[in-house]
Amino acid sequence: MKILLTNDDGVRAPGLAALAEAMGAIGDVFVVAPDREQSAVGHALTLHHPLRATRIEENIFAVDGTPTDCVNLGIHSLLSFKPDIVVSGINRGGNLGDDVTYSGTVSAALEATLMGIPAIAVSLVTANDGSNYSAAAAVAVKLAGIVSREGLPEDTFLNVNVPDLPEARLLPPLITTQGKRSYEGTIVDKVDPRGRSYYWIGTVDLNFRDIEGSDYFAVSRDHVSITPLHLDLTNYNSLAALKSWDLT
Ligand code: MN
Repeated sequence: MKILLTNDDGVRAPGLAALAEAMGAIGDVFVVAPDREQSAVGHALTLHHPLRATRIEENIFAVDGTPTDCVNLGIHSLLSFKPDIVVSGINRGGNLGDDVTYSGTVSAALEATLMGIPAIAVSLVTANDGSNYSAAAAVAVKLAGIVSREGLPEDTFLNVNVPDLPEARLLPPLITTQGKRSYEGTIVDKVDPRGRSYYWIGTVDLNFRDIEGSDYFAVSRDHVSITPLHLDLTNYNSLAALKSWDLT
């Protein structure tokens, strides 16, 4: 199995190193990852300046772009083959609920899905640096094996969130739905040394609604969460109501 790894924490992030080491047990691992942290860049694609890729080890490339750039460059240029699977992560911090659209980690998996390649995004749910990347990597390896055997439903990728616990303490994976955040004001509003106002979007506590069956519900009870995501953002439940509008 040929495995392409990427992330949004940067090519030197510990989560990516743990993932690469573990994935080596089940296939040939290639890494194409941002040369610096690109968290919360979402699905951004770089169009207005050229990208550079630096080969820092035999199978590891650092790109001065976004996670989505990395998947594009990896698949269309840097690798001489199409990977069997793309795994993005392991992110430092969860990608739960409404936050998935901000996530570079999730967007890299989404990009691979657009290219018809099975993909998994993996995040360690931790508010600090995280101490159990190897446990999350073991989860990723197992899932990658299952995905390669079973395949994924069309247009679907997996958003996996793993509690920051040793492997023996993780409870079995649950298939979950995308949860919802409870939004609260987290903007830091201060004055800089030159007397001008500045605003800083603050670090956000894990503050999600405890919806049964959701990603947050699972990880807050020490279960691994596996949410199948797809690319179609259409709200099908709203179609009937909107089609009843008189638009003439
Ligand atoms: Mn990140």
